[in-house]
Amino acid sequence: METIRTKCLIIGSGPAGYTAAIYTSRANLSPVMYVGHQPGGQLTTTTEIENFPGYHNGITGSEMMDDLHKQATRFGADVRNGIITEVDFSKRPFTAKADDGIEIVADTVIISTGATARYLGLSDEDKYKGLGVSACATCDGFFYRGKKVAVVGGGDTACEEALYLSNIAAKVYMIVRKDFLRASKVMQRRVFEKENIEVLFNTVTSGLFGEDGLEGATLTEFMGTDKEKTYSLPVDGFFLAIGHTPNTDLFKGQIALDEAGYIITEAHTSLTNVPGVFAAGDVADPRYRQAITAAGSGCKAALDAERYLTELG
Ligand code: NDP
Repeated sequence: METIRTKCLIIGSGPAGYTAAIYTSRANLSPVMYVGHQPGGQLTTTTEIENFPGYHNGITGSEMMDDLHKQATRFGADVRNGIITEVDFSKRPFTAKADDGIEIVADTVIISTGATARYLGLSDEDKYKGLGVSACATCDGFFYRGKKVAVVGGGDTACEEALYLSNIAAKVYMIVRKDFLRASKVMQRRVFEKENIEVLFNTVTSGLFGEDGLEGATLTEFMGTDKEKTYSLPVDGFFLAIGHTPNTDLFKGQIALDEAGYIITEAHTSLTNVPGVFAAGDVADPRYRQAITAAGSGCKAALDAERYLTELG
């Protein structure tokens, strides 16, 4: 087995990972980055990014990731296609194994494996991804100005997305499978006070339809014992807000995770409970989940790794 030695191994290649790669390579840490299952991360699945400062005409997720890749490799980051399949944080230096058969021995590790938005599992969701189906209202809401949209879910995220969309779209339906919202009372109140949000309780989605793009959803409402009504709801946008799953399976038992599986970091830093292992981006952030906040936390993780190595001497 080939072994490579690095001062910094970065796992995952979204805006957090790439920013960490840019900072650590400029600091001469010669980082090695494994891009993971979805090179470029979640952004590559969105259409246009219009809220990342500096891109005044907007940019596609793939273009932004290409730019970040070029910027990181320009400073010498060793970016590798592949997946880390095993890590050992129990002793220093840390070790990791990749699916290309390489073992990496690293003084520090930055975890930026992101989170995956949950989908309902309908085959139609894939078909209309980028053509009406989205898991991010702040990313894609703008394209539905004056149109009709639906948001699936009844938690705080769903309420937040519905409220955000209600300022853009003409009409927002919330599709909630139970007869109540799980969201905090304050969010519920805001939703109920908005005239153009309609909450469809006891309702599930069984399919989506449309010729060249999404035109609507097929819904079933359950109305008590054995009574149900299936109907078509015309919408131009269909937003999933049923939660995210942090990509932390690989790290279970190695570092501290919260009950939802997110990596726990020390307040205002990227430090995990294992000195020398840092976390950046959505993998440690159930709250903001933005490209810009992920990039900022990638920078923090790089500075924390650099400081750790300096203190180690
Ligand atoms: P939650 O797990 O809180 O809510 C998920 C919602 O999606 C629930 O209404 C759930 O329904 C529904 N759901 C799950 N699976 C399905 C499915 N297959 N079909 C239909 N509906 C489904 O996730 P959130 O992302 O909303 O929130 C995560 C955490 O982040 C929470 O602790 C939340 O409070 C917090 N948060 C806080 C914010 C803030 O403070 N501003 C903003 C956003 C999130 P059911 O209730 O039936 O299970």
